[in-house]
Amino acid sequence: MKRILAIIFVAVIIVSPLQVFAASHSSGTVHTVERYTSFNERTHIFTCSECGLSIVETHRFNASGNCDCGYFIHNHSVAEYTSYNDRTHIFRCEKCRVSIVETHAFDSNGNCDCGYFTHGHSVGEYSYYNERNHIFKCEKCGVSVVETHRYDEEGKCVCGYSVHSQNVDEPNEGFLSVLLSFLELIADFFIMIINYIKNFI
Ligand SMILES: [Zn+2]
Ligand SMILES: [Zn+2]
Ligand SMILES: [Zn+2]
Ligand SMILES: [Zn+2]
Ligand SMILES: [Zn+2]
Ligand SMILES: [Zn+2]
Repeated sequence: MKRILAIIFVAVIIVSPLQVFAASHSSGTVHTVERYTSFNERTHIFTCSECGLSIVETHRFNASGNCDCGYFIHNHSVAEYTSYNDRTHIFRCEKCRVSIVETHAFDSNGNCDCGYFTHGHSVGEYSYYNERNHIFKCEKCGVSVVETHRYDEEGKCVCGYSVHSQNVDEPNEGFLSVLLSFLELIADFFIMIINYIKNFI
């Protein structure tokens, strides 16, 4: 998950300036739509028939509220809920098939239509911890809950983590995974640059 977020982050940082640059490609004209490959609530993606790049654009609605990509202005209606966490759920709209993220709407009994309900989480097993947080899976709702450690007088947390663990000399798993995802980022960056350059060859 951390890796996916990091890649999205880099993609946004890297791709947006490239596309601004590419907007004045060879002939100096704007990109020409070959076909729309996908859309979400706010944007669509199309392939440019001149330069072959994938371009992300916000929808352009006509007077009837339709965009050329097939998306149209409407109130989303739930086809099915696909997942939830302790703050939001995701559903697929039956009109546009787009996945929508929403905060839960609880009724007076504390139930949301998605199946999530208000309750005190009940700790299953602590599955992971780093220097600041531990994570457990709730036995009632199955959601992964992130919490900061709470130390007793001896400096130990219920999850098994101890303040003394921080004095270990060798790099811990947290450091290594950060290093690893950083290297992955660099690799992804170069792959993107190479793909970009290929468009001009
Ligand atoms: Zn183009
Ligand atoms: Zn559109
Ligand atoms: Zn919709
Ligand atoms: Zn919900
Ligand atoms: Zn729960
Ligand atoms: Zn803990």
